[in-house]
Amino acid sequence: MPNLRGAIVPVTPFQQNCAILWDEGSRQALVVDPGGDVERILAAIDQQGVTVQRILLTHGHLDHAGGATELAETLTARAGAKVPIEGPDRRDQFLLDGIAEQAADYGFDARNVTPDNWLAEGDHVTLGEHRFDVLHCPGHTPGHIVFIHHAARFALVGDMLFQGSVGRTDFPYGDHAALITAITTKLLPLGDDFSFLCGHGPGSSIGAERAGNPFLR
Ligand SMILES: [Zn+2]
Repeated sequence: MPNLRGAIVPVTPFQQNCAILWDEGSRQALVVDPGGDVERILAAIDQQGVTVQRILLTHGHLDHAGGATELAETLTARAGAKVPIEGPDRRDQFLLDGIAEQAADYGFDARNVTPDNWLAEGDHVTLGEHRFDVLHCPGHTPGHIVFIHHAARFALVGDMLFQGSVGRTDFPYGDHAALITAITTKLLPLGDDFSFLCGHGPGSSIGAERAGNPFLR
């Protein structure tokens, strides 16, 4: 789709792909999964000269959500207007409530997150003319969601699907069967020409994963 641009900022010791997406015309932006390293995310925002409207979360894990509260407060203070945190699905609240404690276990600081709006299957988020539809895709976490931009044939899938792999399900409330069901019933039908960005490592396409991902056989 014309006018949709993006930048990736790898954050936290887990090298999580924080995404900044913006409309080239309006320079209005979204930040998806600001897991930490907020100074680096702010630097990338400033480098692109964009104005962040909202912060989106795919799920409640530390490396995806750990910087959200600090980033929202900083951007809200700068803008003089609320920059809300939206998502994930409410079923990940227990993870967001445990971020500070979990971060301490890893030896770094992060704050718990209280989203301004939970997101659920069927919701959508807009950025000017851009529309991101929300699908609930549990398995990696109970409240994991993905963002689908149909016009751009582009998806943000968090830790659900990776190039050649799928999300871990060895965490509390992980569910491998549910994860595979969500991938096969909600992502694969999007179409082989859909490209996606994931939470770690390089992105891929639905077609490439349908053809070659050993977890989908
Ligand atoms: Zn995760």
